[in-house]
Amino acid sequence: MLVTSHALAGRIIGRLLPGRPLAAFAVGAVSHLVMDTCPHWSPAEGDDSHEVFLRVARRDGVAGLAAVALSVATTPAAERAAVVAGVAGAVILDLDKPFVHFLGFNPFPRWVRRLHKAVQHEAPHRMPYELAAAAGLLATVLTGPGAWRPWRNRAERSRS
Ligand SMILES: [Zn+2]
Repeated sequence: MLVTSHALAGRIIGRLLPGRPLAAFAVGAVSHLVMDTCPHWSPAEGDDSHEVFLRVARRDGVAGLAAVALSVATTPAAERAAVVAGVAGAVILDLDKPFVHFLGFNPFPRWVRRLHKAVQHEAPHRMPYELAAAAGLLATVLTGPGAWRPWRNRAERSRS
């Protein structure tokens, strides 16, 4: 699944487990595997498969970094540790791709790689699923538990 969606899920998990960064990291990592079992996109087999993957990965990487920034910046400082840990746990398994691409090796032990590969449920026609999942997760970040509501915070501040 897109790393952007994993990052947004990690933010939601961190907000559900305030003050418990270790638990947020663990639940984030489990969420990654669970999300990867859901039907999602992969490039079609073919000569340009890697190129197509890289094109999507570049955009997803930028969107993912924006999701991480949004997640951290919209969380009150006192609860930021759990959000950072939740996001880190949720995205860590996908660090294999940049590691292989930029450094030429996969940092994870073979059993982790095998597990991550085994849970994938991918097909080339499923980009709409990815975009729907990302939109749903973003909507949850903006309206769900621990949502970012600057207007409410401002109103609370002016009352006290
Ligand atoms: Zn994955």
